[in-house]
Amino acid sequence: MSSLAAAKADNFYFPPDFDPKRHQSLNKYHGQHPLRERAKKLDQGILVIRFEVPFNIWCDKCGEHIAKGERFNAEKKAIGSYHSTKVLQFSMTHHCGCRITIQTDPKNAEYLVVEGARKKEETYSAADAEVIELPDEEERERRRRDPLYRLEYQQEVSERSRG
Ligand SMILES: [Zn+2]
Repeated sequence: MSSLAAAKADNFYFPPDFDPKRHQSLNKYHGQHPLRERAKKLDQGILVIRFEVPFNIWCDKCGEHIAKGERFNAEKKAIGSYHSTKVLQFSMTHHCGCRITIQTDPKNAEYLVVEGARKKEETYSAADAEVIELPDEEERERRRRDPLYRLEYQQEVSERSRG
């Protein structure tokens, strides 16, 4: 019998000394929270849940890409509140051992990476990323029609590539 099946069977097995008046429920009889393992740190306000990574992130330790939608067992706890909305924190461990913490940001209705990983920067200027911007239509047309301008451009590019 698998451990899950055993756990389920346990839930429905009423021991001979079980007294509904005294024990009220099987969970109380066994002295266990109904969520069992997932609730073992409940006294610290921590519940283990399945957490789905809300955006693409990169692990700080191993550098691996963790895709949006990837699932982890995470410790969920409330760490404060913004007006009447709880701020929730989710801590999970990447397979490399890195602790990754993500929390909700009720003010901006989004998630923030607190530690252990970084979010890809989705906006950047071409200069920052050191890529050559694609020329616009006008620029291309001028290069095509004006041989001198084209020559200047080519020299500039070769100078730039020499660094
Ligand atoms: Zn990692």
